[in-house]
Amino acid sequence: MLEIGVDLGGTKCAVCLGEIVDDNVKILHKCAVRPTKSVPAEKMLKLLSDDIRFCAQRAGGIGGVCGIGVSCGGPLDSRAGLILSPPNLPGWDRVPVTDYFTEKTGLRAWLCNDADACALAEWKLGAGKGCSNMIFLTFGTGLGAGLILNGRLYKGSCDMAGEVGHIRLENWGPCGYGKAGSFEGFCSGGGIAQLAKLMILEQLQSGKQPALCRGENGMEGVTAARVGEFAKTGDPLAREILRRVGVQLGKGLSILMDVLNPERIVIGSIFARCYDEIYPFAEQVIEREALPAVRKNCRVVPSTLLENVGDAAALMTAKYNYETELEHEG
Ligand code: BGC
Repeated sequence: MLEIGVDLGGTKCAVCLGEIVDDNVKILHKCAVRPTKSVPAEKMLKLLSDDIRFCAQRAGGIGGVCGIGVSCGGPLDSRAGLILSPPNLPGWDRVPVTDYFTEKTGLRAWLCNDADACALAEWKLGAGKGCSNMIFLTFGTGLGAGLILNGRLYKGSCDMAGEVGHIRLENWGPCGYGKAGSFEGFCSGGGIAQLAKLMILEQLQSGKQPALCRGENGMEGVTAARVGEFAKTGDPLAREILRRVGVQLGKGLSILMDVLNPERIVIGSIFARCYDEIYPFAEQVIEREALPAVRKNCRVVPSTLLENVGDAAALMTAKYNYETELEHEG
């Protein structure tokens, strides 16, 4: 059976057709990626339904597909297939996404928090293979955690386990989840851009002209991706920004380690691209903050699915739910 995956992100949305066999994922077709910003929810759902129908045709009709897996940032109610009102998807309030796709395409659909879906994908197909207790951290547009505990995905009492971006690490700092100094404020794309702008302003006020904001779009062009690129070429301000991010990441990781005692923490997106620029500083904090026995038992590693993690996560959502339902029926 093939799967259709819908990766509904704060920055981009994408539909793909794929096949997961054992621990391998094969993308058979990927529709054009659609930027999320400024497209209203209703219009986006219609466009994505067209993409899903196209993928179903490529699979030889709906009979060849086990269903649609939708991976999306929370908060959401996965049992009811409802997207509630995610901070990174403004305007998507109480959207019954699975019912909508089923009505338009005739296929079954399942919704999963993006961090949970990525955790499943990294656990079965990537850097978390073989673990019974692992955490996946998104570190992209937002920050969320997917928790695999005792060999199962842990969702909590109302589906909200792992909303770690909401934890406040400092009483100052960039905003994530509407909260200054939160874990998401420091460890997400939007948060890094905010921190960078604050630090650039400080430099401008003291008469310096940092290279980071000397691009075509000035301050507007200061993004986490730009900070990452500059840090890699040795730019001192960009390196200092990522050092501070690393320190805050270390605090957040120490809390997660002490509470959940995982054997592995897999981190995606910005972290995976800037591991050398961020992790050494996080590690120093972990050495001080986390219980020795706990930290010695835990490895922090970058995602190995990297750019494919979003597609793999959405496909995995379909496969995992389809197989879990079959198990219960059988
Ligand atoms: C959301 C999480 C999500 C994360 C990554 C956060 O803002 O609350 O549910 O996993 O962003 O998209």
